[in-house]
Amino acid sequence: MVQLGNVESGSRHDLRVGISPDAPDTDDVRDDSEGAFGYVHSYETSSRYDGPGLRIVLFVSGCLLRCSYCHNPDTWHLKDGTYVSAQQVIDRLGDFVPALRSLDGGLTISGGEPMVQLAFTRRILAAAQQMGLHTAIETSGFLGDRADDRFLSCLDLVLLDIKSGDPDRYRKATGRELAPTLRFAERLAALGKPVWVRFTLVPGLTDDPANVEKIARFVAPMKNVEWVEVQPLHQLGEFKWKAMKLEYKHADTPRPTPDLVNRVLEQFRAAGCRAR
Ligand code: SF4
Repeated sequence: MVQLGNVESGSRHDLRVGISPDAPDTDDVRDDSEGAFGYVHSYETSSRYDGPGLRIVLFVSGCLLRCSYCHNPDTWHLKDGTYVSAQQVIDRLGDFVPALRSLDGGLTISGGEPMVQLAFTRRILAAAQQMGLHTAIETSGFLGDRADDRFLSCLDLVLLDIKSGDPDRYRKATGRELAPTLRFAERLAALGKPVWVRFTLVPGLTDDPANVEKIARFVAPMKNVEWVEVQPLHQLGEFKWKAMKLEYKHADTPRPTPDLVNRVLEQFRAAGCRAR
């Protein structure tokens, strides 16, 4: 019997590694169980950034992308997460329900990638909905084909990271293909599921006007996309790469200037998107 850990409060910027050395490889996970157990990094209690209102943000483990600027490489592998029951998470969430509801907030599950442990994520989202909370995930969409109707019905909002509009650029930035993300975006549009698109602006990697234009033109006709959020690169995750002995390629990449951020915002707006 595997020992359960504690659901740790903290920050996405805390380094957590090697907590569950016997966990399966992330690539091998097909969470088609009922999702009673899973691996988590931590949770934050007072985000005003990851969806409407005040949010609890749960960071789950496991991701198949390898974004060169990732702020949380310690969420890539399940072995770095803490093995917990969904009920532990739900019980902890329950403590915050009155405050979250009074502040029009809810639960956002981020990571890592919430759809690696699909059933675990779904179980927690469903419980949150039953408690009357607004629910969201932040996802790259790469595993969107795994999301069945039952999973999508547990979601009030999807924060969809479109990391690049050009397939070659996407592959360079993430190590994976762009097409599954676009497919997932189109499916969410067909369903009318509310989406906030997120785009990480990395000078020299994703800031090329043609690259931005491809995302803007793809997103602009989608009536379900409420916002496009431009997120300038920051370096708060650099220390994790060093601690994990990974090569961090952006140590010398400058933060986007206000002019660059404005140029990209204006590109999205000119295409017809609400951007901020
Ligand atoms: S999708 Fe998110 S968690 Fe995964 S590598 Fe990219 S930035 Fe990191």
